[in-house]
Amino acid sequence: MKTEIEQTIAPSTCAAIRRALGKWYIKNKRMLPWRLTSDPYAIWVSEAMLQQTQVKTVIPYYLRFMKRFPTAAALAQADQQMVLKAWEGLGYYSRARNLHRAAAMVTQKMNGRMPSEWEVIRQLPGIGDYMAAAILSIAFGQPWAVVDGNVKRVVARLCCLDTAVNETSGYKVFQRLAQKLLDRQAPGDHNQAMMELGALVCTPRNPGCPNCPVAKYCQALKNRAVNRYPKRRKRTPIKEVPFVAGVVVKNGRILLVQRPEHGLLGGLWEFPMVSLTFQDDPVKSLARYIEEATRLTVTVGQHLIVVRHTYTHFKLHMQTYQCRWRAGRVCLNGPSAFHWVSPERLAEFPLHGAVHKILPSLG
Ligand code: SF4
Repeated sequence: MKTEIEQTIAPSTCAAIRRALGKWYIKNKRMLPWRLTSDPYAIWVSEAMLQQTQVKTVIPYYLRFMKRFPTAAALAQADQQMVLKAWEGLGYYSRARNLHRAAAMVTQKMNGRMPSEWEVIRQLPGIGDYMAAAILSIAFGQPWAVVDGNVKRVVARLCCLDTAVNETSGYKVFQRLAQKLLDRQAPGDHNQAMMELGALVCTPRNPGCPNCPVAKYCQALKNRAVNRYPKRRKRTPIKEVPFVAGVVVKNGRILLVQRPEHGLLGGLWEFPMVSLTFQDDPVKSLARYIEEATRLTVTVGQHLIVVRHTYTHFKLHMQTYQCRWRAGRVCLNGPSAFHWVSPERLAEFPLHGAVHKILPSLG
């Protein structure tokens, strides 16, 4: 088993990899909208969106977001609901809430200028090591190597590195090797080239080794071991959690409730929903929950749809019912706000993914 200590990429090999990669990147890079700017705010927005989300999904969101909130000041002034609405469908909504909070800090405490010091930028909500390195290298030309999934895969294969890519403790190993490989003269382009190589050539399955600019230096290729890298630690499968949701209708309007600001999907809107155990009766549990959370008495009626949705730590499996309002005025215990909304106006609210899956069943 090779550890990082045994990895001795000779400085001359590092230099050759940098040169080959740099040339390849100039010819092969995709013309992505955030590559046409050096505005740190724009790069920050793109990096926040690209964490956990694929490039082709991000492009239209990025363009709309930048049109709507072209500066940190414009974002800071916006209402959180507008920001969440602009993010709707991208998932991992804490990214949007953090971006919004951080924009307020940049505007109020830093004269609207993105900080260019590692220690300062790392203090902004949502900016971890990866994002700090990406912004500082791409927007400010500072020599910080980025380490994302693509970079880890390329490094693991280049060096036949046995450190698991999904082990938190292994991050530093990849970071040090990526830093060793970094082109300090052009760190922004180098970082993007590493990520681009992972996205376009050194892909998880069937990597394009015959067209790879660094094939000559690749240990995994040399040892005919490409498919053995990167290594992953087996994770326990994520568990399924049963939920039940109610579409409560009163005089043709539907009840939407807002999730509390902090926690999963904070600030987003939904139909009242609650988790169950597999032993619970969903109909009784739903009526009881709606009464507890809103003080409304409802009759649980027709079953609408089963929704499945995967989050980082669990899989939601949700029965959804239509509910008829019988009595009571809304008094919230749990959700932070509510609205009675006509079906045509549902789309005006930032709804999370599981709720979107219910909408087609409403007719
Ligand atoms: Fe990846 Fe193949 Fe290139 Fe090695 S030669 S870095 S495995 S694409």
